[in-house]
Amino acid sequence: MTAWVLITGGSRGIGAATALRCAAAGWDVAINYAQDSAAAQALAGRVHALGRRALALQADVSDEGQVARMFERLDAEGGRLAGLVNNAGVVAPAARLETMSPARWRRLFDVNVIGTLLCCQHAARRMSTAHGGTGGAIVNLSSRAAEYGSAGIYVDYAATKGAVDTLTKGLARELITEGIRVNGVRPGIIETDIHATSGVDPAGAAATLPIQRLGRAEEVAEAIAWLLSDAASYTVGALLDVAGGR
Ligand code: NAP
Repeated sequence: MTAWVLITGGSRGIGAATALRCAAAGWDVAINYAQDSAAAQALAGRVHALGRRALALQADVSDEGQVARMFERLDAEGGRLAGLVNNAGVVAPAARLETMSPARWRRLFDVNVIGTLLCCQHAARRMSTAHGGTGGAIVNLSSRAAEYGSAGIYVDYAATKGAVDTLTKGLARELITEGIRVNGVRPGIIETDIHATSGVDPAGAAATLPIQRLGRAEEVAEAIAWLLSDAASYTVGALLDVAGGR
C-alpha cells in the first residue's frame, strides 16, 4: 500500500500544486483546508484522476482539537502517514508596526507557528520509530521574508517565518535519529491568492528580482516534492530558497 502525505492549506496556491505534484510522484494525498470545501473537493477529484487516494480534511491548523481530529480521520482511512507539508499560512494587510494590533500578531503566530508545531507533533507521533512508526519526511513552508524581514509591509509575518526556520533546524536534529527528515522551503514572491490579503500587488516587485519575474506555485511544489522523496535522503534541516535569486 502506498503512503499518505498530508498537505496543510492544500486547497489553493502552493499547497494545491504540491498535492498534484505529490500525486504524480505516487503519494496518496490528504488535502487540509480551512474554509473552501469546494476547492479542496475539486482538487481531491484531480488527485483521484491521477490514480491516487485523496482525502479533503477541514481543520483550522491553529486549533488543537481540530488538528487532533484531522489526524484521527486520516488514521481511520488506513495506510501509513509518511509525509507532512506544513503549508497553511496567512499574511495580514501591509502595515507598520505602530499600527498593528496584538490580535493580528496572535492570529499570525497561531496559524503559521502553532499550526506548524501542532501538525509536526501529531505527525511525529505517527512516523517516529520511537513510537512504533517507520519514519517519514516533513517539509515546513517558510519564506525568504524570514531573512529580509519585510520592513514596512509585515514584520510580524516575517517573524513567524523566522520561528518556522528555527523550528525546522531544531526538529530536524531531534527527529532524524527516529527516521524523520525535517526540512524547510523558503519561497520568494509566488503568484497566488495570498497577496490579496496584504494589499500589495506582487506584479510591481517582479522587476526588482534577480530573475525578473514572479515564481509559480508549481516551481515551489517541485522543491517540496524533492525534499519529501528518498532522493533527498541525506538532506536534513535544510532551508531551500526557491526565490529566483532574491
Ligand atoms: P494561499 O494561496 O493564500 O493559500 C493558503 C492555503 O492555506 C489555503 O488552502 C487555505 O485554505 C489554507 N489556510 C489558511 N489558513 C488556514 C488555517 N488556519 N488552517 C488550515 N488551512 C488554512 O497561500 P500560498 O501563497 O499558496 O502560501 C502557502 C505557504 O507559502 C504559506 O505558508 C505562505 O506563508 C508561504 N509563502 C508564500 C509566498 C507567496 O508569495 N505566495 C511566499 C513565501 C512564503 P482555504 O482556502 O480553505 O482558506
